[in-house]
Amino acid sequence: MFDLEKIVNISESCLVTLITSCLEIPHKETGGFLIGKEDARFVMGQRCDCFSLDVAYPVQTSESGKSFWGPSNLTAYARIKDAIDSMGFQIMGEYHSHIENVPELSNADKKFIKAELEEFQQKGISPPRIEMVLNIEPKKYSRRHNRRCDCTYFKKRVRCNIRGIKNPLNGYSIMIGAYQYEESAEDFIELSVHVP
Ligand SMILES: [Zn+2]
Repeated sequence: MFDLEKIVNISESCLVTLITSCLEIPHKETGGFLIGKEDARFVMGQRCDCFSLDVAYPVQTSESGKSFWGPSNLTAYARIKDAIDSMGFQIMGEYHSHIENVPELSNADKKFIKAELEEFQQKGISPPRIEMVLNIEPKKYSRRHNRRCDCTYFKKRVRCNIRGIKNPLNGYSIMIGAYQYEESAEDFIELSVHVP
């Protein structure tokens, strides 16, 4: 039996919020929570585990710049977490954007996530599982296109081209990567991202 990789499945409405919340401030990093459930899918006739993401919630009380994003009001942050939990929804992870960079976890990201996981474990709360990074690049196209969004699969990531935002020749290219902390390996593994 071959080893199937873990899949992150993004729903249509979740993808819309992820992209629009990141493009609202394309020159600054932004982020929020990923809400969904653990699920199973059949890939090549085999059942495999996946994370289904139904909703993205952009955190409003945050501080950010070209190369950083973080919650600025931890009480508010905890209140959002508690509200989502008490409504019976599951926080599957967090997302944040990168600006003209790569859709990979930086060393600062890894440090932040590890500290957050430790804090959650101390409090006996099951920690968020996924960290998603969306890299935003402004893009000029040589040919006129109608307004549209194309999503292309790479090996594990997805690239979404959002064309014709300011005019038919201008748009954004967004690359989405997702990672999970593997406790046994004390390292992050890259997950396979699927979009509608
Ligand atoms: Zn980052």
